[in-house]
Amino acid sequence: MAIKDEYRDTILMYRLGDFYEMFFDDALLASRELELTLTGRNCGLEERAPMCGVPHHSVDQYIVRLVSNGHKVAVCEQMEDPAEAKGIVKREITRIYTPGTLDIEGAGTGNENVYIASVCFSEELTALAVADITTGEFSVYEFDTEAGSHDRLMNEISVLGIRELVISADAAPVIEASLSDHMMDIYLDPVDDSFYRYQACRDVLMSHFGVTSLIPLDMESREEMVSAAGSLLMYLRETQKSEPGQIREISIRQTDGLMHLDRATMRNLELLETIYDHDIRGSLLGVIGKTRTAMGGRLLRAWLREPLTDAGEINTRLDAVEALKNEPVISNNISNSLKYVYDFQRLTARVATGRADARDLTALKKTIAQLPDIKEELGSFDAAALKDINSSIGDFGALYTMIDRALTDDPPQTITDGGIIRPGYSKELDDLKESIKDAKAWIAGLEASEKERTGIKTLKVGYNKVFGYYIDVSKGMTDKVPDDYIRKQTLVNNERYITPELKEKEDLVLTAEAKINKIEYEEFRKLRSAVEPYIPALQAASAAVASLDVFISFAKTASDNNYVKPVVDSGDIIDIKSGRHPAVEQMIGAGMFVSNDTYMDMKDRSMLIITGPNMSGKSTYMRQTAVIVLMAQIGCFVPATAAHIGVVDRIFTRIGASDNLSYGQSTFYIEMSELAGILRNASSRSLVILDEIGRGTSTFDGLSIAWATAEYLAKPEHRVRTMFATHYHELTDLASECEGICNLSVAAAEDGNDVVFLHNILEGPASKSYGIHVARIAGIPESIRNAAKHKLNELESGQSAHTHNSEESSEQLSFMTDDMKKEAENADAERYRKLSAKLSNMDINRMTPVAAMVALQELIEEVNDN
Ligand code: ATP
Repeated sequence: MAIKDEYRDTILMYRLGDFYEMFFDDALLASRELELTLTGRNCGLEERAPMCGVPHHSVDQYIVRLVSNGHKVAVCEQMEDPAEAKGIVKREITRIYTPGTLDIEGAGTGNENVYIASVCFSEELTALAVADITTGEFSVYEFDTEAGSHDRLMNEISVLGIRELVISADAAPVIEASLSDHMMDIYLDPVDDSFYRYQACRDVLMSHFGVTSLIPLDMESREEMVSAAGSLLMYLRETQKSEPGQIREISIRQTDGLMHLDRATMRNLELLETIYDHDIRGSLLGVIGKTRTAMGGRLLRAWLREPLTDAGEINTRLDAVEALKNEPVISNNISNSLKYVYDFQRLTARVATGRADARDLTALKKTIAQLPDIKEELGSFDAAALKDINSSIGDFGALYTMIDRALTDDPPQTITDGGIIRPGYSKELDDLKESIKDAKAWIAGLEASEKERTGIKTLKVGYNKVFGYYIDVSKGMTDKVPDDYIRKQTLVNNERYITPELKEKEDLVLTAEAKINKIEYEEFRKLRSAVEPYIPALQAASAAVASLDVFISFAKTASDNNYVKPVVDSGDIIDIKSGRHPAVEQMIGAGMFVSNDTYMDMKDRSMLIITGPNMSGKSTYMRQTAVIVLMAQIGCFVPATAAHIGVVDRIFTRIGASDNLSYGQSTFYIEMSELAGILRNASSRSLVILDEIGRGTSTFDGLSIAWATAEYLAKPEHRVRTMFATHYHELTDLASECEGICNLSVAAAEDGNDVVFLHNILEGPASKSYGIHVARIAGIPESIRNAAKHKLNELESGQSAHTHNSEESSEQLSFMTDDMKKEAENADAERYRKLSAKLSNMDINRMTPVAAMVALQELIEEVNDN
């Protein structure tokens, strides 16, 4: 009860012999969540205490389940040998598990980081410290605190995939409100404000990193950062109940050279998962994620979240990918070696915290055995990034020999039951094992010899922890049992016996084995400590191997899918020849995707207005451009025949309706707030993708907003490279009015009553909208479609039957400014003038009938377009 009192916010798992038991409310909750039988136990109260438990050997899976369901679990161990303890065995909490500190193997997090963060903010600055205890990563950074919102913080949390946020109890309500505004469901852990006291945080940082001032950490007088990082270390100490030894370094994350992606863009571009079913298949990661190791998998995700913005660094990555792609045999050899590389970033973290078992060290041994081959293969490359990788992988020959000499080839997981130390490693162990060899052989041969002696064919020799060795005889045969058998245990169908001689050998064996296990355990601990000095080198090597794995994955994707190396520079041109959408291309099958060019710059083509029928491929075309730019900036080859990318600092996307409706925000409101964010934050180096801005409201409102937005983004002083898909054909007029705006359309052909989408992008505006045809394909009933066609004809010929609604229309029309009205009138007059000029220039006598038909068709189209 005293322990539970200290850890009220946890589910307490209390070790009792071979079980972890839970009591009272914990038992009621856990029995429900883990589907365990609820029992009771006398506890000195009138009623029995509700209790449920799980066997100690499978506790991990239960902890994972509880923590994944959002609970905090405290594990309470027996700190003394019960056989030697006087009174109640001493117990202590040895570990607290939370969503952000769940480092249990098999928690389904191989390819993903388990990030926990702590935040500290003042009026000026917000600092975020982020750690992954499974790998030992630890970083901190700061950004300006926004007035009245925590949007940037929310975005950072979401983009990094942080699972748990530590926060001072004081600040918790504000952050809780922000999380709920952003519909983010992460585990928030408010802690006592003392965790954030500057002095305490400063001390904890200095003592953890073994420094006497904050200067070597580059954190001198950076109060918010010190508090964020210090509080996080304290929290980790508190939950791990030990110094987080896997954290060897703190890095101040530089966000300058990184593209700042927002949540909406990551989702809209389907970088890590698809929008609809959150599946990795169909996402960009699904296409380019061919990494072989868990570390590589995690790094690739990190790169996707944070593409680079420095052309030099990008080209260093691209050169590495090119070099590997040009040497398929070598790449393949490396790739084959990587298959045998375990997650040694996490293995190393377990060594650092003293949690590694013999299997972990064996996995480490197998991993470092691959490194010399990898280094040798890397030796043939000149690319700077590959050379760096090569030099970051140290020589672990001595470590290999040390582990190999000590451990058996296939040691058991438990480190206290022997079987882990190789013969020849310790003379004392070998002697002990030798001393019981005869006794063990005698026991091993006992079954056969006793069968022979007694004539009982079904006689068996067995062992269990309570009774030790025994001779098992079925009940029907007990009359044949010799006199020297002593009955030990009676089961339903069998009797179990011992003999004095068996007892004697057993004593010999068990005493020696207990000694052997103890020595083996000690030897193992010594070995584990001897690995510790290698931790920094292992961390460096694992980071290098992770990068190599991603580069090889990129090289392989490039050859498999026919991608090219983009030319990346700091100019402002985006020139993609025959670009494809990497994920759509894979989904619809090779050769089916219609490739398209994209050309944008900051002069004549900063804004592409794309019109065309529904489902023709406008969205796909825009997303493909954004994805190609992003791929180039993570250092990946791109799906095109050639590409020239002037780096972008941010990609903004405003695409489709979000799923925020259930939170009471209207689609239109979300659209407008996202647009506002883009207009506020886009710079002249950004790329903006706008899909049908303004469609969530009445036509004229929407059109006016779309028009004004497009004009704004095209003006020289706010110019941003923008792709703008729209069904408002009126916007196509902008091309003739504003410099930098160009019209594009997606081709479609009519085949009788049907429409065929050709998916290729043409210069110039589209002439028709094919919405009603799409309605047919989508299964809208014929009667409704016919009525719609009828209405369309009416509207097109300007004779709406609902003229009595004109009051409402004129009200909406009033959203058009006088300037806009005047512009529209001028445009009409201009159009009329052009048409009359064309007609009067025609000489009907000198035209063939076909030429006359063509000319007439052109005139009709011109009238319809407008
Ligand atoms: P809407 O206006 O209704 O939003 P849209 O014009 O944006 O439609 P998309 O969603 O881009 O159309 O494309 C519809 C479908 O057409 C895609 O799911 C894809 O299967 C196919 N498609 C798009 N572009 C291409 C292409 N270049 N080659 C082959 N198929 C394509």
